[in-house]
Amino acid sequence: MCAIFGIAGAEEASNLTYLGLHALQHRGQEGTGIVSTLGQEPFVHKERGLVGDIFTVEVIEKLKGHSAIGHNRYSTTGGNTSENLQPLLMKSSLGWISVAHNGNLVNASDLIKKLEEDGSIFQSTSDTEVILHLIARSKERDLIQALTHALKKVVGAYSLLVLNSEYLIAVRDPSGFRPLVMGKHNGKPVFASETTAFDLIGATYEREIAPGEMIVVSFRDHFKVQSLRPFEPTPTKRCVFEQVYFARPDSSVFGATVYHTRKKLGAQLAKEQPAPGADLVIPVPDSGVYASIGFSEFSKLPFEMGIIRSHYIGRTFIEPRQSIRDFGVKLKLNPVSEVIKGKSIVVVDDSLVRGTTSKKLIQHLRDAGAREVHLRISAPPTAHPCFYGVDTPTKRELLASTNSVESIRKFVGADSLGYLSLTGLLKVASESSGEGFCHACFSGEYPTAISL
Ligand code: AMP
Repeated sequence: MCAIFGIAGAEEASNLTYLGLHALQHRGQEGTGIVSTLGQEPFVHKERGLVGDIFTVEVIEKLKGHSAIGHNRYSTTGGNTSENLQPLLMKSSLGWISVAHNGNLVNASDLIKKLEEDGSIFQSTSDTEVILHLIARSKERDLIQALTHALKKVVGAYSLLVLNSEYLIAVRDPSGFRPLVMGKHNGKPVFASETTAFDLIGATYEREIAPGEMIVVSFRDHFKVQSLRPFEPTPTKRCVFEQVYFARPDSSVFGATVYHTRKKLGAQLAKEQPAPGADLVIPVPDSGVYASIGFSEFSKLPFEMGIIRSHYIGRTFIEPRQSIRDFGVKLKLNPVSEVIKGKSIVVVDDSLVRGTTSKKLIQHLRDAGAREVHLRISAPPTAHPCFYGVDTPTKRELLASTNSVESIRKFVGADSLGYLSLTGLLKVASESSGEGFCHACFSGEYPTAISL
């Protein structure tokens, strides 16, 4: 998953982009970048690391311009190398073009093969570069037409921001897999993966960019905004996992507040998978907090923060020796023994992927004195990999791809295990955001052909 942010016609475009990316840090922590322009040449800075560390005052001062796009990377395709950091920037016969992409294309390898046979030389291993090559090879002489031509050839998930010396363009794929919202800051257009970026910079949220919509901001035309619909309509397939886990709870995604949707998922879970005789509901922080509140309210069981999360674990933490391997989970999640001792507890999390977190956590809860541990998951079993931009392991590593709920229960060591049904998930999600979700990671029903 990744984050994108863009703003046009602003006094401090790079500074605002930096703040927007900061608010979207949860969508990608491997690297970050900003490309800005005054309407002539681009200014660029990209580096591996966190937004707050990379964009110092000195760096931002060099990123001049009235318009900018930015990106936080979470590698899904391509490796974690600096060539893959975005926004990508390329020179072509149309001049320089920069692209920031959230999502994954599912026909990239076919396209790369064809483009390489025709002489293209790829500089990165990211699927996003395909879009730039297709733009460069287009016969169209205008960026809007060339971009449309390129995007008609790609299949999969893309929420994109494209910048050149004349335009900032925001576009969402026809299925609308990934979120993309637009707003206004001092009367000028601003775009972001999630509304939380607008909250931070004091922008007002206007609306989602519709699936298949292209918004063009023209620098020459006083940053006027134009909405185009260049693609054939196709059924909407928004990623339901954004609501379950990925988006920030204080964001509005697909027109619904993530906080409320997650609470409703917890209530639906309590309805479908009650835990009679339990004393307390405890979240796995932070991912299970909102569903736990919903579970607790529906089941009338007290809610307690019986597990405390340390926020000071960097990605650099290396488990030093085999003998202290369990530190990984214990360092991050520590049970409060006085809250759980002798109690039958319902532990709520949003998803179970490889099962390693839950297995270790449940052991720590028992060590801390829990009498019974009933694990409840506010989504269906994650049984299929995502090809549209969520970083999931291969099918083989997904516990639910080859195990029944009962064998997963045994593996994680819970007294009982209950998942939310797919019907329950889609009922809650569509009550909040209307119909039209991709749920391939749970159902295996991929909305497009996949040729990776
Ligand atoms: P696991 O230990 O592999 O079962 O991981 C489960 C935990 O990972 C849960 O607490 C989830 O909130 C979290 N999680 C689920 N999907 C993802 C993802 N794509 N990236 C990072 N964390 C995730």
